[in-house]
Amino acid sequence: MADVVVVGAGLGGLTAAARLAKLGHRVTVCERNGYAGGCLRSIEESGFRWDAGPTSTTLPAAVRDLFRKSGRPIERYVDLQLRTPARRHVFEDGSFVDLPTGSRARQVEAVDAGLGAGSGQRWASFVDGQATVWEVLRREVLDRPAGGARFADRGVARALGSRASLGRVLTKALKDDRLQVMAAHPFVVAGSAPRDVPAFAAVEPYVERSFGVWSIPSGMAALGAALVVRLNERGVDVRYNAAVTSILTSDDRVVGVETEFGQRVSADVVVTDIDPRVVVGDLMDHPALRRPRQTFAAATPAIPPAITHLGLSGDLPTLPEEVVLHGEPLLVLTTSGSAPAGHAAWTVWRRGPAEEDVLVTLARRGIDVRKKVVTRVDRSPVDVVAETGGSPYGLAWSGWRAHAHRAALGNPLLGLHLIGASMHPGASIPYVVWGAAHVAERVGKA
Ligand SMILES: Cc1cc2nc3c(=O)[nH]c(=O)nc-3n(C[C@H](O)[C@H](O)[C@H](O)COP(=O)(O)OP(=O)(O)OC[C@H]3O[C@@H](n4cnc5c(N)ncnc54)[C@H](O)[C@@H]3O)c2cc1C
Repeated sequence: MADVVVVGAGLGGLTAAARLAKLGHRVTVCERNGYAGGCLRSIEESGFRWDAGPTSTTLPAAVRDLFRKSGRPIERYVDLQLRTPARRHVFEDGSFVDLPTGSRARQVEAVDAGLGAGSGQRWASFVDGQATVWEVLRREVLDRPAGGARFADRGVARALGSRASLGRVLTKALKDDRLQVMAAHPFVVAGSAPRDVPAFAAVEPYVERSFGVWSIPSGMAALGAALVVRLNERGVDVRYNAAVTSILTSDDRVVGVETEFGQRVSADVVVTDIDPRVVVGDLMDHPALRRPRQTFAAATPAIPPAITHLGLSGDLPTLPEEVVLHGEPLLVLTTSGSAPAGHAAWTVWRRGPAEEDVLVTLARRGIDVRKKVVTRVDRSPVDVVAETGGSPYGLAWSGWRAHAHRAALGNPLLGLHLIGASMHPGASIPYVVWGAAHVAERVGKA
């Protein structure tokens, strides 16, 4: 049995803790905030409740597997539901597509209905073409603990589209710029320009079509809360308001952590679920970390969007759970928050210029709720970063090679494992959960 300390109780840390506890290790989680979940939490005000961060996930097998492997099926804890449509895309010319998932034929129908006959087939053919890329990516990169290193293999790199950018691939394959923005939007929302994102990221529409987009009616924060229940059941020691200020080493291995009030916790294994630049730059000082420090110093974090949570009353337009309003700025409207009877809880994410109030921009795009607002909570990108002390979207893409190098740096010292949104295999719910599963695999049974 190993003594394990997990630094940070975000989704990655909670996942790693649950899996390692199930494998028989003695696990302590140190979280600097007074709550768990990281950006996976809710915000409440005046009877309204909104998701603070993620509102949906794809690849539900990743979270299902996590619950099954850590003890019980997910259905015992949360109600994961397929979102139909996955979202509405509204384009600058006023046309829109209510994009379903789970069915090629229904996507063709929806895209034809929104963008004209023939568009559906063009979209479907493009998405079909990503099946092989997905197979290679999953098998060679995502499924492997140090999968980022596989980009160095020429065969793998070629199969994944080599050095081309997502922007280039989309311009070539999809003549209609509405289809292009539809395919690129997950990355634009997450803070990266398509020209900086590698071509293989075009698998995302394929992943969504094949595996669906899922949400939890009571809010995605329920996922974090359910994991905390799992940790309690497994006897994991979760310590709140316990920011780790130092990771202790002896020779070439980690031996524990120190928290801000000088408390020491010994460990054979330290798993960090926080910004890797903080881990190698601030929490540790070891010669073996010189190279990772240089690598991470050159990396740019992806900036979160500006977020506005709205409590609304009165008559409102009937909209799908998610509406993406393409253009400058890009707006993403989520309508699924919880509200008192006769009210609604919406969230708007904004990416791009902020020259006017977001409600004015929303009104210009045809959704005018300015007179319906009873409560409003604004969170700037700086606020969002400060809440977790790192970028919940991980590192911004800067071409395929740079990301591959960072992704390969999983455990630079004996007993030290870096996971979370900035590490392999990447940000967002399924990938963060996947990365934590790799660590459990590497550490193994007690
Ligand atoms: C607005 C927004 C919307 C998103 N939407 C989606 C979505 O719809 N679907 C999706 O799949 N993904 C989405 N994401 C991304 C996804 O939420 C994240 O990638 C994922 O939750 C990150 O989890 P994490 O555990 O890596 O990090 P975090 O959630 O950042 O957790 C890190 C934890 O570590 C703690 N910590 C930091 N420093 C220390 C320290 N020194 N000592 C102890 N604890 C420390 C923090 O307080 C925090 O609790 C969204 C993110 C945001 C911000």
